[in-house]
Amino acid sequence: MIELYFSRVIETILSACSFEPEKEIESPDPTPPQHSLSPREVIIIGSGPAAYTAAIYAARANLHPLVYEGSLVENSLPGGQLMTTTRVENYPGFPEGIDGPALIENMRNQAIYSGATMLQETVLEADLGVRPFVIQGEKTHQTALSVIIATGAAANRLDIPGVDRLWQKGISTCAVCDGSLPFFRDRHLFVIGGGDSAMEEALYLSRFAKKVSIVHRRDKLRASQAMQKAVFANPKIEVIWNSVMTRINGERKVESVVIENLKTKEAATLDAAGVFFAVGHTPNTGFLKGQLALNGDGTIQTRPDSCETNIPYVYAAGDVRDSVYRQAITAAGYGCQAAREAGRALELIQHEVTQ
Ligand SMILES: Cc1cc2nc3c(=O)[nH]c(=O)nc-3n(C[C@H](O)[C@H](O)[C@H](O)COP(=O)(O)OP(=O)(O)OC[C@H]3O[C@@H](n4cnc5c(N)ncnc54)[C@H](O)[C@@H]3O)c2cc1C
Repeated sequence: MIELYFSRVIETILSACSFEPEKEIESPDPTPPQHSLSPREVIIIGSGPAAYTAAIYAARANLHPLVYEGSLVENSLPGGQLMTTTRVENYPGFPEGIDGPALIENMRNQAIYSGATMLQETVLEADLGVRPFVIQGEKTHQTALSVIIATGAAANRLDIPGVDRLWQKGISTCAVCDGSLPFFRDRHLFVIGGGDSAMEEALYLSRFAKKVSIVHRRDKLRASQAMQKAVFANPKIEVIWNSVMTRINGERKVESVVIENLKTKEAATLDAAGVFFAVGHTPNTGFLKGQLALNGDGTIQTRPDSCETNIPYVYAAGDVRDSVYRQAITAAGYGCQAAREAGRALELIQHEVTQ
């Protein structure tokens, strides 16, 4: 009954909008000028949920966005972090979940369908000193009246034996993304780290796990008092002090871990179903070469309740500016906000020019 209702609603909307969902998805301007002299209204740098959402909104606002999606080079995967995961179960609109790469492909197609132009190039440098800003790609350079930076961040991993082989087979950097998966439920899980993120991961995992062990190399945590209090009060969580994980064992999934006490040098092998790294993220800001104000953790600083950076007409969206939520949906939300803010700012200049 409900399905019938929705299909009728969709039919009515489609006929009212003369929407053509079957239309072939291709970039409206597949060969943009290699070295354009006239500035673009908006250039978007990045290719995850933040960039593609910004592109959808900017294109629909007639701002003709050009998206530097990045190329396949070391430490950079066009499409962003979701290209490295299988099932995404918490992005709204997909009741049974959707594979990360399929979700990204949908977003990209929607951005192209809306009118955004894609360029598979990594931005090597950006000159944000004067407007129009200059964006230097691997092969092209462009100028822009506004720039949205949505280059994401990379979750830090520890380089210990077993990590490469068992990555995403019980090893993760995101409890909120993966913690509720069936193979973690009622099992012994390990969190590595000592800051607020590690405490948050442990608290979240304790909802599903039988036991959560935080492995910390010192005898004190860096986390805030409030987070520590919550962790110490949780009967499912223990802290293994002065210790490091030296190996993760398992053939096709995590089966056990080796923990070494740094003081006594004793090592123990413990059964484990999962290991969660909470050892920080590295925002992708290298190409900015110090031109924008950053926060202590390397994320780009933005004005309160805004995506605007310390340079007017330059916006930051997604994980590159967010050290708290770091989810696809929040990145998409920031992408929307950045595009709306850029559009409004450009409208104001236009208005001033025509006055
Ligand atoms: C394994 C894994 C599983 C996850 N699972 C989930 C989940 O289930 N649900 C959820 O909500 N979130 C999940 N997340 C988190 C989610 O992926 C991120 O929060 C989200 O992708 C952030 O989006 P973003 O657009 O800010 O940047 P990213 O997704 O990080 O994309 C940014 C991309 O920009 C490009 N780029 C970088 N530098 C440049 C440059 N100089 N020039 C051009 N392009 C550049 C690169 O291709 C980079 O990958 C997961 C993350 C990981 C790592």
